[in-house]
Formats: sequence, C-alpha cells, structure tokens
Amino acid sequence: MSRYWSPLVHRLSPYVPGEQPRLPNLVKLNTNENPYGPSPRALAAIGAAVNDGLRLYPDPTGMALRQAVADYYGLTPAQVFVGNGSDEVLAHVFLGLFQHPAPLLFPDITYSFYPVYCGLYGIDYRTVPLTDDFELRVADYLQPNAGIIFANPNAPTGRLLPLSEIEWLLQRNTDSVVVVDEAYVDFGGASAVVLVDRYPNLLVVQTLSKSRSLAGLRVGFALGQPELIQALERVKDSFNSYPLDRLALIGGVAAMEDRTHFEHTRRAVMESRDALCRELEQLGFRMPPSAANFIFATHPQRDAAELAAALRARGIIVRHFRLPRIDQHLRITIGTPEQNAALVAALREILA
Ligand SMILES: *Cc1c(COP(=O)(O)O)cnc(C)c1O
Repeated sequence: MSRYWSPLVHRLSPYVPGEQPRLPNLVKLNTNENPYGPSPRALAAIGAAVNDGLRLYPDPTGMALRQAVADYYGLTPAQVFVGNGSDEVLAHVFLGLFQHPAPLLFPDITYSFYPVYCGLYGIDYRTVPLTDDFELRVADYLQPNAGIIFANPNAPTGRLLPLSEIEWLLQRNTDSVVVVDEAYVDFGGASAVVLVDRYPNLLVVQTLSKSRSLAGLRVGFALGQPELIQALERVKDSFNSYPLDRLALIGGVAAMEDRTHFEHTRRAVMESRDALCRELEQLGFRMPPSAANFIFATHPQRDAAELAAALRARGIIVRHFRLPRIDQHLRITIGTPEQNAALVAALREILA
C-alpha cells in the first residue's frame, strides 16, 4: 500500500498464477504446460531470427501470424486478432466488448482471471453456477447481460460443452458477445471457429501456450467477424502497438504451419490422459470427463489439500484451489508417460 498509488490499484485483486518453482527433477503438473517441446520448426525459425533484425520494431499488425492462423482455420486475416498470450487478448476483449450497462456473465467455476479483468476495468459481473456435476447449462445465461464468457473445455474442470449448445446460445443471445475461451480445445473439443462466419456475436479465443507448447513465447489469438476484431485492434493500438515481438511472430507462424508435430503431441497427451484417468479411478479417484490436458480429480476418503502436500513432499506439484465447491479437487496436468507413472506411484504410496 502506498499513497502514491492510484485509488484503483488499492482495490485490485490480481490473478495468482500457478507457481513456477526452480527445483531440479520436479514433476511439474500444476500449470497445464505441454510436457512435449514446441515444434522443432518453430524453434529453428526463432533461432534464425535472432540476428541484427531485432534492431527493428516488429510488424505492428502481426500480419504474417494472422495469415497463418487464418490459413489454418479457413478464415481471412481480418477475422483474426493476435496478442501477447491469450491473457492479453482477453484483457482487450473485456475492455473492448464487455463494458455495457448490464453484468457480464460467466460460470462460478472457471478461469479465475475473468473476475480479475472485471476488477481492473470496473466491469460488473454475475457468476452463474455450474451444476453439481460441473456442467454448464446454457439456458441459465438467458438473462440481461453485457456479454458472456466461458472456457470450453472449462478450466479447471476439463468439461466440454457441445457445439450445438453454443450455437443454441448464440441464436438466443444476440445483443451481446459470447466469448468462448478455447485454451484447451485441441485436446478433445470441437472448436466454435466453424460458427464464426454465421454469428456476428461470437468471438473465439485460443492460445499457443498449451496445445502448441509455447507458453514461454506468449502468443494468443481471437477469431471473429471483422467488426469484433476491429474493436480489439482499437484497444491494442491505444495500449501497445507492438505487443508481439519479432521472435513471437516468427515462431508463431512456424508453429501454426507444423501440423505434424501438433497432431503427434496432442494425440500423445490425449492418450496419456485417458490412461491416467483409468489408473486414478483404480485408486478410488473420481473425475468428470476431461477434454483438456488436465484432469480434475477428487478422492472420496482423502482431503485434497493433504494429498497435494504429500505429493509435493515427493517432488510432484499439482494445483489445488482453496475455493468454494472445488476445494476437494486436484487439477492435475497430463505429463509424459514417465511423469504420469511417477504421479500414480506416489499416490499409491500416499493412499496405502
Ligand atoms: C492458460 C489459459 C489462458 C491463457 O493462456 P496464455 O495464452 O498463456 O495467456 C487463457 N484461458 C484459459 C482458460 C487458460 O487455461
């Protein structure tokens, strides 16, 4: 606290990311990073761009990356906005599309950055409870709102909302934007991108952090009709004209183009996830079906915080949220088969 701070700063409750400890041999399953490395083509492209060219500013429009994303999804660059991680894209979405005289709606259990942006931008919001099984009921969102946002698959539950339900909502909520945060969609979901041409009220947000294993590069994007993209451009150009650096733009393009590596690694994660679910179920854990690169597990006889602490003592870090309704769950990122085996072995020991 300081008298030099703007009044708003006193009132902020900043987002707390999962910890990034620097311990050797840690099995780090707490922040949904990809256990496999990024595309070798992306790494080579970034390496080749580490040269005198860094003297120059990057392309402020990020056109090469927008084109690569557009090509991947069969859209035009005018339907693509790129940002410095999807967190930055989301920040511009909140400022550019959600400041209207009604509350923003999002699930009570979802990405915990959403209320943080509301605090930063003074956006009124209302949370809509998921069912006891963590399912999102789209009918609950048919109420006056400044916008609707949810993650699909949801975080931290991993649950997927079918495309048909999203379309049902888009048809009935036409006066505000529905934002689908698809950070995990490549691990088992159907993207709402296919609806972009038909629904001017739809914005899809994705990231290269998870399924393309580039959390460290900070690249995210939004897909929607040009009218929505222009709002984000206007906010960006009033905030930072060059959010994506030259390396991020070049690496992002190569990562979007390298479909082989992408397919191979996301399939490996999905197979490991399904195997890990079966093993955890044998140990007595319960979990909703996951379409993401993590699972959300609870054990009927064991306290989640104690399990997390016991895992930590064995060098394995998972995420535990001390929040209502989910404080008996652990969010466990899918690791390599070796990391998953270490997790199962440690849990077997702890539960014995
Ligand atoms: C990881 C995550 C993001 C942020 O991703 P970045 O692109 O790394 O900023 C956004 N939304 C959800 C739901 C996430 O889990």
